[in-house]
Amino acid sequence: MDSRQLFDQFGRRITYLRMSVTDRCNFRCTYCMPAGGLRELGRYELLTLEELARLGRVFVEEGIGKIRLTGGEPLLRHDLHILVRDLSRLPGLRELCLTTNGHLLAEQAEILARAGLMRVNVSLDSLDPEKFKRITRGGDLRRVLQGLNAARAVIPGPVKINVVASRGFNDDEVLDFARLTLDPGYHVRFIEPMPMSPHASWERGEVLSVIAIQRQIEETYGLEPVAGNFSLAGPASRFRIPGAAGELGFIGAVTDEFCARCNRIRLTPDGKLRGCLMADGEIDFLRPMRSGVSDEGLREMLYQAMRVKPERHYINEFYFIRPLRTMSQIGG
Ligand code: SAM
Ligand code: SF4
Repeated sequence: MDSRQLFDQFGRRITYLRMSVTDRCNFRCTYCMPAGGLRELGRYELLTLEELARLGRVFVEEGIGKIRLTGGEPLLRHDLHILVRDLSRLPGLRELCLTTNGHLLAEQAEILARAGLMRVNVSLDSLDPEKFKRITRGGDLRRVLQGLNAARAVIPGPVKINVVASRGFNDDEVLDFARLTLDPGYHVRFIEPMPMSPHASWERGEVLSVIAIQRQIEETYGLEPVAGNFSLAGPASRFRIPGAAGELGFIGAVTDEFCARCNRIRLTPDGKLRGCLMADGEIDFLRPMRSGVSDEGLREMLYQAMRVKPERHYINEFYFIRPLRTMSQIGG
């Protein structure tokens, strides 16, 4: 079946759903969570795998072509492969991806690949075991590297590494990460740290601009732009070191206004549809679903979400207020 097309009130075509399957996490990254963690959702506050699959189906029928499973740490969700299997069978879905911290990936890569997972992004902010432990508050770099290797062996699409770039933390590792696009050919994306809930630390002075990173790589290796499908690719500007198998992506969430190209919506683990990371307006799908809402009712709620998706974020305006939820609670 040909899926329909979904547009928001500003004429942006919405094709990409980030679906969070849990708010729990086995790391405590400093820019994402407080050291002591956060109150976790109770079992009945979380969408079930069946509810997630149903929403995935309805949204894909309405024009979503790409779904990314995220969290919290999505690999902590029991039986995630069942959701992957159900979503991967949706006829209109062109991309089914996962973002993970990689800690449990070596064990799960194969079952997820067999269930139909097409791509994986692994978040990795340092290649130094001590620094990695510090930023994640306890993470084991060795396990994440094993997860990357396992993903490369069994998951079809190129493996992407997401690097949150912080001044004074990993600015000295930019070229080390860039070299991973040459060998073994990972895609690497640098992301500016964003001001999320006050429960997570953020200082404007720590934002290492992606322009500065790009310049540093360009001066050493040279860079050429990659032609891409921007309607599915999202906010990253994409380049390649000449001859590299992997790409480099730069997401200037703070310094670049990419909102005009925004193609995404987010489903929080407690079933709220959110038009923007930075805006707390949400539409609740969980309660209506548990009160028997029809598929037609779900479609109406999706259209309503299209009407309230904001035009842009206001991070750089003096009146900006940080969102109430952390990235782990929304689904980064
Ligand atoms: N736990 C998984 C992981 O870390 O990949 C998935 C969820 S995590 C919230 C998704 C992405 O959000 C990660 O790449 C993480 O680095 C990023 N992230 C979290 N807080 C952020 C912030 N304040 N600014 C920018 N990126 C952030
Ligand atoms: Fe967990 Fe991912 Fe947040 Fe780190 S960024 S604390 S791994 S949810």
